[in-house]
Amino acid sequence: MHALRLHREADGSMRALLEDVSEDEMPAGDVLIDVSHSALNYKDGLAVTGKGKIIRGSFPFVPGIDLAGIVVESASAEFAPGDGVILTGWGTGEERWGGYAERARASAEHLVPIPDGMSAADAMHAGTAGVTASLAVEAIGRLGVAPGSGAVCVTGASGGVGSFAVALLARAGHEVHAVTGSAGAHDYLRRLGASEVVDRAELEASAPALGRARWSGAVDNVGGATLAHVIATTGRHGVVAACGNVGGADLHTTVYPFILRGVVLFGVDSNTATAAAREAAWSLLADAHAAGAFDAIGRTTITLAEVPAWAERITEGRTRGRVVVELAAGR
Ligand code: NDP
Repeated sequence: MHALRLHREADGSMRALLEDVSEDEMPAGDVLIDVSHSALNYKDGLAVTGKGKIIRGSFPFVPGIDLAGIVVESASAEFAPGDGVILTGWGTGEERWGGYAERARASAEHLVPIPDGMSAADAMHAGTAGVTASLAVEAIGRLGVAPGSGAVCVTGASGGVGSFAVALLARAGHEVHAVTGSAGAHDYLRRLGASEVVDRAELEASAPALGRARWSGAVDNVGGATLAHVIATTGRHGVVAACGNVGGADLHTTVYPFILRGVVLFGVDSNTATAAAREAAWSLLADAHAAGAFDAIGRTTITLAEVPAWAERITEGRTRGRVVVELAAGR
């Protein structure tokens, strides 16, 4: 099979090579998948360029944290040859070989059927970013924030997780305030369903212990001072879903939002979400996809050979929307 494999050089740098790899080298798993599509996430960019220490498996290694394709062989009663499946998380492309190969082996318990109405390419348009946003939006609703109860803010709004979160929240009937540092993204965020666009700088200033209640909920992709600010400005019994750390991993806050307003801080970990949570997340994504909610989120399709160049671009912030990798293209 054709695969993009990472080789670690003696000086620690990473070399990505397009190679013919024997299927015997693949790790164990009870389902064999003919991979038709993968995606390029920020994390994949860090892995392929070697700019981040993402890979925890042994080298040479096949990266790609998301994949979708058709089952070829299955030792599990859950899946049969011909079934369309998605694999995200569970260390895919980090500990276990990922989506940048024509074939993959996986555990049935980590797979989700491609939902009706979605193609493998549509599934990879959403990928881990869509799943993460969907898990966050589901939690906000389940923990008591109903549409009509006030604005829900999304930080890092024009990014992958942010874009899907804005679209899903707007579709659920929430008033969405999109927090962005990208001046050129305002129209895009409004097209996705944001009713207000907030300048990122407003939330970067040091947070008050308890500020004016502005939001009923939040999807935070930034962390650091921004997350502290969001927590301090969330209203009574509001829910803040912490997803990311693009702005920092530290969190300096006080107990006041929690003990005086009952604010809930909910952590989203898409990597280890249960099969039931994943299926619910994909069902939400499929409904929104069918309604055209993600049409405004750009989709660039690239070949496996183009991954290294695009990996550089994504780590330099020079991509917009989602990057889908088509395995069959360029074969
Ligand atoms: P992207 O790179 O696509 O988007 C991040 C967005 O954050 C950018 O588009 C930008 O949006 C904003 N941003 C970038 N740099 C900064 C900065 N220094 N300070 C403040 N804002 C910044 O990433 P993803 O959407 O794929 O991922 C977002 C976060 O979520 C990452 O930290 C990622 O690791 C994490 N993640 C977590 C998952 C989980 O399971 N918890 C799963 C997937 C991702 P704008 O210009 O609009 O401000």
